[in-house]
Amino acid sequence: MKTTVKKRVAIIGAGIAGLSCATHLQAMGFEVEVFEKSRGPSGRMSTREGDGWTADHGAQYFTARDPLFKHELSSWIDKGVAARWNPKIGVFEEGRWRASSSNESRYVANPGMNMIGKYLARTLTLHLNQTIDQLVPINNQWQLSSKESGLINSLFDYLVLAIPAPQAAVLAQVLPNEIQALCNSVTMDGCWTVMARFSEKPTFPFDAAFVNGETISWICRNQSKPYRIGQESWTIHASAKWSQDNIELAPQDASAQLLACAKKLGLDCSVAEIAIHRWRYASGFVNPSPEFISLPNFNLGLCGDWLNGGRVEGAWLSGQKLAIEIEKI
Ligand SMILES: Cc1cc2nc3c(=O)[nH]c(=O)nc-3n(C[C@H](O)[C@H](O)[C@H](O)COP(=O)(O)OP(=O)(O)OC[C@H]3O[C@@H](n4cnc5c(N)ncnc54)[C@H](O)[C@@H]3O)c2cc1C
Repeated sequence: MKTTVKKRVAIIGAGIAGLSCATHLQAMGFEVEVFEKSRGPSGRMSTREGDGWTADHGAQYFTARDPLFKHELSSWIDKGVAARWNPKIGVFEEGRWRASSSNESRYVANPGMNMIGKYLARTLTLHLNQTIDQLVPINNQWQLSSKESGLINSLFDYLVLAIPAPQAAVLAQVLPNEIQALCNSVTMDGCWTVMARFSEKPTFPFDAAFVNGETISWICRNQSKPYRIGQESWTIHASAKWSQDNIELAPQDASAQLLACAKKLGLDCSVAEIAIHRWRYASGFVNPSPEFISLPNFNLGLCGDWLNGGRVEGAWLSGQKLAIEIEKI
């Protein structure tokens, strides 16, 4: 695909994978439009914002191992939208606590995990509140339809699906059979997340904790991360297995079970104000990982964490590598 005449690319999904792909293509001279069903960008790198409080309720932090991602991360750190996080971490296993011996470098976005998405999206044409519900192939181009607007009056030379596999599967009827089968083959587990707000810092010996063998798998004090302001808030994730087994519970019942487990582990939330979120597609990925999918004959690509290891770094790399492939077409 030559970039002398600006080629138009539609990207569905403004998570870190879609935004990574979009920013690279835009820098290479493509005309990019991103369609997102939510009110804001960032996908599962998300921050709940309430009256006087915030809490990261999706991805909690990320690691950086690949040189390309490390390079990008250093630019985010320079711009002040990411920073290293040095929590005191506990591990609960076999019924007892110990301090973590991991010396992994962990990073967070500032002042909330959704900031990197906002930062990447700032120069992009982003259509929010647009749930794409139909892909229409027209000659060698693509037209989109959304639940909110119906048929969108634009034709695109290339289409990128940067959404979780189960959501891609819904749109996949016009895609080749093997892509439909791949999307349908991926199981993504849900995650129940409780956010607890306190008027005073509760007594708990760690900033964050990995919990094994319990209903809960993760506890984190948001104020231990850099630049968090507002009311004291803690995020509690249920384990993938418990969440998936109990995904249809009423929110108040899920909350009661998570809070009982937190109390048993030493975090008493009885005086806290509680919010709860159900993630239907939190985690899951294809193994071995293809990194991304490019189908030049269809002017179509797919990227996302589910194609590259299931985490923030993998998602960003998936978008980047697909963009580099699109440049070559
Ligand atoms: C509870 C939880 C905890 C996590 N913890 C960590 C962690 O600590 N570290 C880590 O590295 N990773 C963690 N992750 C995983 C990490 O968040 C993801 O790997 C990464 O954010 C995925 O990015 P993505 O762009 O591939 O997908 P997403 O972030 O899911 O982006 C996809 C976007 O597409 C949009 N979309 C979907 N369907 C449509 C449609 N039809 N039309 C328009 N838009 C659509 C969605 O609204 C979403 O914004 C966690 C995830 C969850 C849920």
